[in-house]
Amino acid sequence: MSADCLFCKIVAGEIPADVVHETETTLAFRDIDPKAPVHVLVIPKAHHATVAALAADAPGLAAEVLATAAAVADAEGLTGPGYRTLFNSGPDAGQTVFHVHAHVLGGRPLGGMA
Ligand code: AMP
Repeated sequence: MSADCLFCKIVAGEIPADVVHETETTLAFRDIDPKAPVHVLVIPKAHHATVAALAADAPGLAAEVLATAAAVADAEGLTGPGYRTLFNSGPDAGQTVFHVHAHVLGGRPLGGMA
């Protein structure tokens, strides 16, 4: 756990979250400010700041985050219509929480990439 990390506090149960899926190593919960009908964040329970740090330091855990994202999408009925999985990395991408998280977005046509 990293001090003053919002998502570490959610993992610890210190801040409430609408959890939709949990494994031994990952947690998935609904985004508090959803950008689509389905907007779920998938995180490793262990603290890693960015997807690059996660991939370098714990590649097996990175794969588990991706597998959880796919399981969430399937449970939300998005496998057929499709969905988007994305990681924001750093200021130019708009990353605001520096505990790596995959956004799983779907439930409407999402359009092309910005
Ligand atoms: P990013 O901009 O990629 O760092 O995404 C951070 C996301 O976390 C944003 O989409 C926020 O709406 C979301 N968020 C911030 N605080 C919470 C919270 N307490 N519970 C759920 N989602 C949150």
